[in-house]
Amino acid sequence: MLAGRMMDYPLTLTHFLERARTYHGRCEIVTQNPDRTSSRSTYADLHRRAAKLAHALTRLGVGAGDRVATLCWNHARHLELYLGVPAMGAVVHTLNLRLHPSELGYIASHAEDKVLVVDRSLLPLYRKFAPQVRCIRRVIVVGDDGPVEGDGLDYEALLAPEPDHFDFPTLDERAAAMLCYTSGTTGNPKGVLYSHRSIVLHTLVSCMHDTLGFRERDVVLPVVPMFHAMAWGMPYSAVAAGARIVLPGPHLDPASLLDLMARERVTFAAGVPTIWLGILALLDEHPGRWDLSAMRSMVIGGAAAPPSLLDGFRSRHGLTVTHAWGMTETNPLGTIAHVRASLGPGADSLDTRASQGYPVPFIDQRHVGLDDSRPLPWDGQSMGELEVRGPWVASSYFGDEGEDRFTKDGWFKTGDVVTIDGEGYMRITDRSKDVIKSGGEWISSVALENALMSHPAVLEAAVFAARHPVWSERPLAAVVLRQGQTASKDELRAHLEPRFAKFWLPDEYLFVERIPRTSTGKFLKSKLREEFADLLTAKPSG
Ligand code: ADP
Repeated sequence: MLAGRMMDYPLTLTHFLERARTYHGRCEIVTQNPDRTSSRSTYADLHRRAAKLAHALTRLGVGAGDRVATLCWNHARHLELYLGVPAMGAVVHTLNLRLHPSELGYIASHAEDKVLVVDRSLLPLYRKFAPQVRCIRRVIVVGDDGPVEGDGLDYEALLAPEPDHFDFPTLDERAAAMLCYTSGTTGNPKGVLYSHRSIVLHTLVSCMHDTLGFRERDVVLPVVPMFHAMAWGMPYSAVAAGARIVLPGPHLDPASLLDLMARERVTFAAGVPTIWLGILALLDEHPGRWDLSAMRSMVIGGAAAPPSLLDGFRSRHGLTVTHAWGMTETNPLGTIAHVRASLGPGADSLDTRASQGYPVPFIDQRHVGLDDSRPLPWDGQSMGELEVRGPWVASSYFGDEGEDRFTKDGWFKTGDVVTIDGEGYMRITDRSKDVIKSGGEWISSVALENALMSHPAVLEAAVFAARHPVWSERPLAAVVLRQGQTASKDELRAHLEPRFAKFWLPDEYLFVERIPRTSTGKFLKSKLREEFADLLTAKPSG
């Protein structure tokens, strides 16, 4: 081999931190505080405070590879931890505050967190799992209101005496930078340990125009929590691009978010469908109340975006919503529903925009048979499990659990059931544990949900499997109606009939007030199954 003659410059997050100070020092970080006032700081402050943090943590005994856990909302201090901890060679571990205390206790122990940084408002949650965790040596409290009890340390008091400059070490780009756990919808939570290199590459690709396209002139609002899937990498992308970043704190209701978007002239926001469903409903109720003219892109992911949602934003409010797919295991960006110009004008259809899209550079995809794991054709019809690989896809879990999720030839098994069409556009039809198999045939719950949610009276719908004596499984639909609207079972059935084979149509429609959700706002279908799985087999009473 004739080797190239280029420098072996390490791809580390430290570069982004230094660059933010040198070239984007004036760029603003806006935090919405719990009392709804705003705090403003700059990337120069970010660098200075990351240095102070690194000194303080070193003083507390944090060294290379040690885990520093955070239990925090999205705010400027959390951003300091996102940059400062990896730059000093330690690992930032984000704890998901929506999990059950016993799960948090399990995760913090499993990760062997050494220090915990916690928002003052979340101290009661920490106290619930503290007795379960032996590894945490110091607790640092973030929040400006009042003294810290017990042996907890106040974040500001800790940083105050430290010098503004820290000699950040030259790190190996393969060193661990961040640890995130999956939210455990598929068994025990599992840890994904990202390297500097994997995050840097993910960040660079996120900044490409046809992916998320972060620019220096953007105002980025990560609605996705920084405690979940690295807020889809947005904190790093914004810092790398030198974009202004707006952090919403704990106020994630639609009205607060719309106020923030309008006030700060947000250009880019990203969140899960639940968030966007609430925002669309409010915009429909009060058209013109919020000036969103600065918004260039709203990204939706984490669960399937109902086509009616994408269409509603575009046709009624002139807003572009881009659909993307990813997982904690993929840093998370994997695919995006960018409509390729080369496909011609006809391709810009709702069908393409509502697909999960095609892979971003450096992500490879394939799908394999659910029964035989054999690669399937890209014909838009064959349903199989999606497998991906790439430099920011996990190659194993922390502690080497879940080995069965990794294939011998180097692919990660996503657990998502998909079709892929001839142009490479991927469509999720289910998660492997949610897919319904009726009389030996697969039924896509997601397709039925999307169709139900396009009915004007339906706010939300979740379709799941119930046991059946003849067909083994049959679909049931749990439906939440919009306030003041009605729809009968027959109407809903008539709405679906023209679009699906007869055997796909749900056997029952259950009108419920709320669909149970996971900690990250996705439909928790296992709960529905638990409750209603025997509905069709139960003997009628009387
Ligand atoms: P968990 O696996 O614990 O729910 P993640 O946040 O990592 O946590 O979730 C990843 C999963 O979310 C994917 O495997 C997929 O099922 C779902 N998902 C993510 N984005 C989309 C999307 N755009 N459409 C449909 N499902 C999605």
